[in-house]
Amino acid sequence: MSRRSIVIVGAGHAGVQAAASLREEGSDDAITLLSAERDLPYQRPPLSKAFLKGAMDLAGLPLRAEQFYREKNIDLRLGVAATRIDLAAKRIELAHGPAEPFDHLILALGARSRPFALPGVELDGVLSLRNIADAQAIRERLGAGRRVVVVGAGFIGLEIAATALALSGAVTVIEIADRPLGRAVSPLTSDFFRDAHRAFGASFRFGVGVAAIEGVGGTVTAVVLTDGERLEADVVIVGVGVFAEDRLAREAGLESKDGVIVDEHLVSSNPAVSAIGDGARFPQHSVRQALRLESVQNAVDQGRATARRLMGKPEPYRALPWFWSDQGDLKLQIAGLSHRVDRWTLRGDPQSRAFAAFGFAGPTLAAVETVNRGADHMAARRIIGGGLPLTPEEAADPAFDLRKLALSVKA
Ligand SMILES: Cc1cc2nc3c(=O)[nH]c(=O)nc-3n(C[C@H](O)[C@H](O)[C@H](O)COP(=O)(O)OP(=O)(O)OC[C@H]3O[C@@H](n4cnc5c(N)ncnc54)[C@H](O)[C@@H]3O)c2cc1C
Repeated sequence: MSRRSIVIVGAGHAGVQAAASLREEGSDDAITLLSAERDLPYQRPPLSKAFLKGAMDLAGLPLRAEQFYREKNIDLRLGVAATRIDLAAKRIELAHGPAEPFDHLILALGARSRPFALPGVELDGVLSLRNIADAQAIRERLGAGRRVVVVGAGFIGLEIAATALALSGAVTVIEIADRPLGRAVSPLTSDFFRDAHRAFGASFRFGVGVAAIEGVGGTVTAVVLTDGERLEADVVIVGVGVFAEDRLAREAGLESKDGVIVDEHLVSSNPAVSAIGDGARFPQHSVRQALRLESVQNAVDQGRATARRLMGKPEPYRALPWFWSDQGDLKLQIAGLSHRVDRWTLRGDPQSRAFAAFGFAGPTLAAVETVNRGADHMAARRIIGGGLPLTPEEAADPAFDLRKLALSVKA
């Protein structure tokens, strides 16, 4: 294979993995990895967990040491945003410096916090969390006695709530739906987390939105809810989801719809451009619909799959989705996707703070949510991934050996 020029835009979990996997697969292509951020490419999950709590410092965040990029001859350019893709000329324009030609372009652009258009969002102390600077700004404002209002009871909102409580703050979580994690987990797991966060010390307001955010002298002081309630606040954290960062692709005429649209090989509407990670909308085979996934697993596996395809080993992207979230002393892990689940079966007792919810789509196990049961999660990944037969009755039976079933398939 002749030496190509591969440009990767975005050095998050997906972009860095694509570059690393290209080298692992034996690529001697010229690899340019562009990052709009100035920090050495880093892990995002700790930003709402250990880093926010002060249990991990900046040194713990990088995905790879600086020398990795040097040794692997990956031209990592920090603080260099791509501004325009010229598909006809096959080159990408940069915020500064000459345009970069490419034979193949990998868009690994990630996502950005969904804008929250309300009076008062510009006040000091109203924050969202996507990058290191956001996490540092939030961390500075958490602490004993701080009144924290979290808008949105999704994964990030609840992780921040648990961290703020661990730092002795007073936390209220506002959620427009009637339960936390509504779009992401079963009612059973959702109820469990609602009760667990109450036990940590959080207050919830369900079924209401934010009408306005108030401040004095440019600094936030309160949140007014749509039912008229006024909550005093020292800090307001908005965690209402993300949009795909697909502006570059849209402006270049690539098919996009909250995410660059790709086929099952992660190739966009132009064969010279792939898209991976949070910013890609791909046909997910098990739920038979096009979707975006926001997880480290998906970003990493799509990076790998794209590198392999570029090295002449194409395979449709079929990796089993899995995810985790740490909230206080609770580790939630999810294997599979629950879109088609029509029956949930419980294994273990939520009262013991360790249980699993098995989701079946007809007779087939489709998704498993575990809390503090890592072994069940690992078994579930193999059982779902291998299409192994498991009945709801077996799943619910504590004497049934899940591990043995899981090990009956080769990894
Ligand atoms: C606080 C937080 C906690 C999380 N916790 C978990 C968790 O516990 N478990 C889990 O599985 N997932 C978690 N996630 C989600 C996970 O981090 C994402 O799914 C993952 O980061 C996606 O990787 P990515 O490479 O697609 O995008 P990103 O990591 O967002 O990286 C994209 C990069 O592209 C850059 N970029 C964008 N546009 C340009 C441009 N024009 N030019 C140059 N660079 C550009 C961006 O600046 C960014 O650095 C969490 C996310 C956050 C924010």
